[in-house]
Amino acid sequence: MNRKAKLITIGLDAATWKIITPNLKRLPHFATLIKQGKAKTLIVPDKEEILSPPIWCSMFSGKTQEEHGHLRYVVNNHLVKRKDIKVDFVWDVLDRKGISVVALQIPFVMPPFNFHCHYEPVGYGASYDLKELEEDTDGVFFKAVEILKKPPEVFIVVFTALDRVQHFHWGEPLVISWYEKMDKILGVLEKYAEKLIVVSDHGFCGIGEARTRTLPEKNDKGEELKGDHHQEAILITRGIDYPINKHEDLFFAILKEVKNAKSAG
Ligand SMILES: [Zn+2]
Repeated sequence: MNRKAKLITIGLDAATWKIITPNLKRLPHFATLIKQGKAKTLIVPDKEEILSPPIWCSMFSGKTQEEHGHLRYVVNNHLVKRKDIKVDFVWDVLDRKGISVVALQIPFVMPPFNFHCHYEPVGYGASYDLKELEEDTDGVFFKAVEILKKPPEVFIVVFTALDRVQHFHWGEPLVISWYEKMDKILGVLEKYAEKLIVVSDHGFCGIGEARTRTLPEKNDKGEELKGDHHQEAILITRGIDYPINKHEDLFFAILKEVKNAKSAG
């Protein structure tokens, strides 16, 4: 068997129980992980924005949106950069402690952020084109497997395609086929993990049910917006005892669980 990472966090941007729960027969790896581990819903509180950048930022910095103040990819016509966000992320803290850590494509900034690895996303990580999204998802997956051949102690990777696909295809059968793709990816990556966290930043719903409106009515190809972000995100854990009740708790859970793995091993 391969050497394993002590802890892997797999982020699935915009993954929702609304699609996963009724389709578990088509999603065998989700089904197994839910059965073996613990599954719950993480709710974005009313006072926080249901947007990808601030929620991923909260998850890996341990700070609320008010505390870190980073809400959007673009502010005053400028792309916000990592250095503009005055926080320590979990990989910064682990790295200082001498724990090997790699983070791949974390979408709190655009293009998504890498730590101790290099990957250039297809379409700048901002494409809504299905072909480009497929290419990019495969690219991130292959990169993740390459990294895990010599696993760091902690590995974090985020797949952003579900968010983009669901905005313009919510309610269409192809959405489920994208969850099947994520299921296959989970099935491969989870084998490299001792402890595992699978998490989304927010869920998804039809455009009329959403409390936020994140995009214009039509995209640049004239496709109509069909779905938007919902406050209910997913969380599946295996081997994690630290209680995760809100997105910020991820930061503390990762630090605690890695420390415990160290003293146990
Ligand atoms: Zn998102």
